[in-house]
Amino acid sequence: MLKKVIWLFGLSGAGKSTIAQHISQLLSQKNITYVLLDGDEIRNTVNSDLGFSTDDRRENIRRSSEMAKLLSQQGIKCICSFITPTKELRDIVRKRLGNNVILFFIDTPIEECIKRDVKGLYKKAINQEVKNFTGISAAFEQPENENDVVRITTTGKTPDECAKEILDYILNKTCSNL
Ligand code: ADP
Repeated sequence: MLKKVIWLFGLSGAGKSTIAQHISQLLSQKNITYVLLDGDEIRNTVNSDLGFSTDDRRENIRRSSEMAKLLSQQGIKCICSFITPTKELRDIVRKRLGNNVILFFIDTPIEECIKRDVKGLYKKAINQEVKNFTGISAAFEQPENENDVVRITTTGKTPDECAKEILDYILNKTCSNL
């Protein structure tokens, strides 16, 4: 069975949202619909009361994984893109979604994210104008001992190539009866 929830995690600017959009487009060409739950969008709307403290990050992921769960229970599959920087937070996702989720680590080195600086936030974080910024002034734990995580490196690849890698994985490894 196709997983109901595809959860992309990684540093800000790693490529989660871009790759999520590509996956969604590629799947819709196969008449498979996944809706997008994007960390930035959720934080700007339903979770706009939350900041970046440990407690708020936990609450952000708890609410977001609950949303994905509610949607998926009603047959609406989701691609979620959230930084999800620590094992504790990824465990919240696992606890809520269990067997219905597959986690992909969008693995882009921080140097590359700083170079891209899509949202101009790394510059601000380095200048301490933004506090608690993942990878600069807040922890990002690599998923070293998390055997269920699929690692997707992005360096030297296009977003479309990364999306196709993920698609191959979800169609071939978890979808034998499609
Ligand atoms: P995130 O959602 O992880 O914060 P975004 O998707 O918003 O990251 O931004 C990633 C940026 O990196 C985009 O401007 C994208 O075009 C660029 N990029 C370059 N190479 C890749 C790649 N292989 N995969 C994804 N994004 C890439």
